[in-house]
Amino acid sequence: MARYDSILGTVGRTPVVRINRLAPAHVDLFVKIEAFNPLGSVKDRLALGVIEAAERSGALKPGQTVIEATSGNTGIGLAMVCAAKGYPLVIVMADSFSVERRKLMRFLGAKVVLTPAARRAIGMLEVAVALAEKNGWLLTRQFENEANADFHAQTTAQEILADFAGERLDYWVTGYGTGGTLKGVGRVLKAERPETRVVVCEPADAALLASGEAQPVNPDGSPATSHPAWKPHPMQGWTPDFIGKLTGDAVSMGLADTLLSIPGPDALRCSRELAQKEGIFVGITAGATFAGALQIAETAPAGARILAMLPDTGERYLSTPLFADVPVDMTEEEQALLASVQ
Ligand code: PMP
Repeated sequence: MARYDSILGTVGRTPVVRINRLAPAHVDLFVKIEAFNPLGSVKDRLALGVIEAAERSGALKPGQTVIEATSGNTGIGLAMVCAAKGYPLVIVMADSFSVERRKLMRFLGAKVVLTPAARRAIGMLEVAVALAEKNGWLLTRQFENEANADFHAQTTAQEILADFAGERLDYWVTGYGTGGTLKGVGRVLKAERPETRVVVCEPADAALLASGEAQPVNPDGSPATSHPAWKPHPMQGWTPDFIGKLTGDAVSMGLADTLLSIPGPDALRCSRELAQKEGIFVGITAGATFAGALQIAETAPAGARILAMLPDTGERYLSTPLFADVPVDMTEEEQALLASVQ
């Protein structure tokens, strides 16, 4: 059906696409392209999931202001959902995230409060908590909110089961930001497709899970301090400076079969190659997840089938290192082309 009562009806049901030129010949590699969500990222799912869960529980009253701390895609998804449903929205974001994210949220009617990058993700959260408490706003708590993982269990996971029904699926590859995708899809795959190995990627500069060091937490499950293994990395939306509750749950539930570290340059290169060799235009964490899938493919047995999550669109990164080498002015080759007909 292609007619909807609201934009919110278009969230999810994203396509799975075969990789034809970048995959080694001995495997079947597929990607699930979350850029097909209405605001271009996997976080549209979380936004709809947490707002509708809060409406059902009564935690969110008509006209009440919603607030969240986010690296961007959650804010953009929430801005869409809040616009469509009529809730005011305030987003708290570190000033290091791409400027197009701020502008997108403001364009969708949200207010954006910026915190210094030096205060990291924890600093963003502290400001969001303080504003929520002071004003009686609903903090959606994306890192701890079960509705985040539940929505992935009810949508993303079911789509994957349907798309691979009756067929092999040997590996499912993902990263984590909140861990909503990992916990929600991971638990359904473990129950329904126990033969599918869940591969979890993290930045080589911030391999928090691989470090084996525990996250210091507050009694309510929120992070108390930055994780000792965290360093800045280029994968915006992956691995904040703490292991969030949903990610921690996924690990303690045994959902992660394999951990991979992805170097930043590999993420940027894979994003570029997906665009230039497959026509698939996606962001940095998508490139990073794809780099993880290629690592798996190298040693996977012949005939293995791999599915990688591609969380968002490449258009969100025009002002970031992903586009740093893309010139604005004509190259010599382009100038020569023009000169050849003048
Ligand atoms: N990639 C990008 C670009 C994201 O914005 C996010 C969400 N922060 C993720 C990956 C990870 O998704 P999740 O929060 O479900 O772990």
